[in-house]
Amino acid sequence: ATDPLRPQPRAGIMDIEAYVPGKGAAHGVAKVHKLSANENPLGPSPKAVEAAQEAAAGLERYPDGQATRLRQAIADTHGLNIANIQCFNGSDEVLGLLARIYLGPGDEAIYTEHGFLAYPIFILAAGATPVVAKEAGERVDVDAILASVTPRTKMVFLANPNNPTGTYIAFEEVRRLHAGLPKNVLLVLDAAYAEFVRRNDYEAGIELVASNENVVMTRTFSKVHGLGGARIGWSYAPAHIVDVLERVRDPFNVSSTAIAAGEAAMRDRAHVERSVQHIETWVPWLTEELTKLGLRVTPSVGNFILIHFPDDREHSAPEADGYLSERGYILRRVAGYGFPNALRMTVGTEEANRGVVAALTEFLKS
Ligand code: PMP
Repeated sequence: ATDPLRPQPRAGIMDIEAYVPGKGAAHGVAKVHKLSANENPLGPSPKAVEAAQEAAAGLERYPDGQATRLRQAIADTHGLNIANIQCFNGSDEVLGLLARIYLGPGDEAIYTEHGFLAYPIFILAAGATPVVAKEAGERVDVDAILASVTPRTKMVFLANPNNPTGTYIAFEEVRRLHAGLPKNVLLVLDAAYAEFVRRNDYEAGIELVASNENVVMTRTFSKVHGLGGARIGWSYAPAHIVDVLERVRDPFNVSSTAIAAGEAAMRDRAHVERSVQHIETWVPWLTEELTKLGLRVTPSVGNFILIHFPDDREHSAPEADGYLSERGYILRRVAGYGFPNALRMTVGTEEANRGVVAALTEFLKS
């Protein structure tokens, strides 16, 4: 029942379930390895930390509302036109803005079965209806997405690589998806984990944005750049979408410390390379070791893996989660993503990775 004596959110807002981030530190454990938010175990570039500290000396001043230095660093690094790049308070901000701009009551937006759980939040907050397209074998199924399109569809969110599965569809498939969508449907290519994919496919993604009016790519500094706490995301979009985003975004949405840190991080290619190499070393190692223990691991191209647990109660994912947390290893429960018996593990430091394998070896014997 609504209370007439206090302000009421408009219809639909109370249908939204708040996003629940992965757990932080457990209590009473000497050393905690947080492996629950796909952060970079090497941390940010030291140059980014230094730049943020320098920028902190001038905190009385507003930041550059256009984040020009940051956008220039992105443009230089990725070979893009600065006019098509915009920066945000995390990529979550631009994903949410796109939903609020292009969706309203009566509209539908599609995301996939195991897709990022912020999408339905953004869609519902815009007053629109989320439509879930089935995946096939924990992978995005382009045909299922296309079959979900109705005359009400206005947007498709595609995370590639996807979180929490870590699976990836080749760019030919993305192109096929785009070709099958009506021209008034916005395809949002969420490329949060793009840097971990060593292929030229992202060039194709960029080309898809550049040569169409209905594709946007979003990126983040939270993953490979290790700057989740700084909250920096960016988009690459056609001019008419740049224009609309510019009208609605907050005037100073990226802080001066974030602009400085992001610029330095983007220009420190050696740190990016080290970070990617770390993932390339440890994803195969973890996959192999956990498979040897009899656990199924979804093949991942991201900086995390999805670990599936056996059907017996004592060795289920919730039990494993409790066992690992007590030993200081914080993984991500993914029941909300359609995986009640799996945990998502972010690749950690060597110590953390070996520690999780050792702990799970003991757990499975217990
Ligand atoms: N997209 C995907 C697929 C993600 O996994 C995340 C982080 N959980 C984000 C977007 C948002 O990242 P941020 O807001 O930190 O840029």
